[in-house]
Amino acid sequence: MISFLDLKTQYAILQPELAAAVQRVLSSGQYVLGFEVATFEAEFAAYCQCSHGIALNSGTSALHLALLAAGIGPGDEVITTSHTFVATVAAIVYTGATPVLVDIEPHSMTIDPQAIARAVTPRTRAVIPVHLYGQCADMDPILALAEKHGLVVIEDACQAHGAEYKGRKAGSMGHMGCFSFYPGKNLGACGEAGMVLTSNPEYARTVGMLRDWGAERKYHHELKGFNYRMDAIQAAVLRVKLKYLVQWTRQRRTNASIYDRLLAGTKVQPPEAISGRGHVYHLYVIRCADRGGLQAFLNNKEIQTGIHYPTPVHLLQAYADLGHGPGSYPHAEAVANEILSLPMYPELTEEMIVRVCATVADYYGGQDHA
Ligand SMILES: *Cc1c(COP(=O)(O)O)cnc(C)c1O
Repeated sequence: MISFLDLKTQYAILQPELAAAVQRVLSSGQYVLGFEVATFEAEFAAYCQCSHGIALNSGTSALHLALLAAGIGPGDEVITTSHTFVATVAAIVYTGATPVLVDIEPHSMTIDPQAIARAVTPRTRAVIPVHLYGQCADMDPILALAEKHGLVVIEDACQAHGAEYKGRKAGSMGHMGCFSFYPGKNLGACGEAGMVLTSNPEYARTVGMLRDWGAERKYHHELKGFNYRMDAIQAAVLRVKLKYLVQWTRQRRTNASIYDRLLAGTKVQPPEAISGRGHVYHLYVIRCADRGGLQAFLNNKEIQTGIHYPTPVHLLQAYADLGHGPGSYPHAEAVANEILSLPMYPELTEEMIVRVCATVADYYGGQDHA
């Protein structure tokens, strides 16, 4: 069996270090925020070339608080793409603002800067580019547009830990960058966790207050806040794992290059890694005809795959109230029917990739003869 994601193998390798880190927290008696969390904030912010990190309980909370810190609320419009995980759009709705969805560039499957330009209105206050699958959105034109219209740029970097756009780290290019440390992400906790990164001290201060009931001093509530704090066990786990992130990214890229080579000349289209956009392969997403057939065939051969995501946000039942029917975003709708995520993690072996690719070739080869 080749699983889609394998957290157990990584745990087995890190077990002694993780056990020591968790034990340290258990003995400390400091279970929420505190030393481990503050240290992880500083370490991850430094790694991402930002001056402030505010640790939270999820990536969704990061998006929510970044929007609130930017002053986004009812009557405001926030532009993002329909081809993303639902959390990006949900966070906008939490603030009372209106999500304005736009289409993707078909080659990268990230938000189309020209579509953003067409969607700007006098009510637009912010834009959330999503660095989908680990590849950065085309930030230069997005930052230029934002500058021109006075928009706040909040990067959804939940799939892009360590990705680099022309030398700049994902999460450091906009006004704020949002990260998830959900277990399956490139840097994953043993539970839920997230972070906002920024180099703006005002945004940092506001996000820091909002995560802890809007108070900097105990019981002195200046803002209507939330309980979105990170717990210390997650921070201790993440500090251990951060030391391996560069190595893991290298291994993901090596794995992607093996896939690329073996899939060249087959009937599936490997992902396009665009120069300067720093793909870190959170997911390795191919495009293919007869996706359902291929996925079932792989599954029968004990190879697990995923679909990220089968339905663009504008066609989800929960967001029917946005009022966009089929045909609204042709590229997002087209790719949703063709994408398939193959197994991808640092511990994946060349042998496993060879088997996945041979099975993919088998499927289409078999079809030709049928
Ligand atoms: C995982 C993810 C989120 C949400 O992060 P959580 O930690 O699960 O709340 C948001 N956006 C994208 C693109 C993600 O992949």
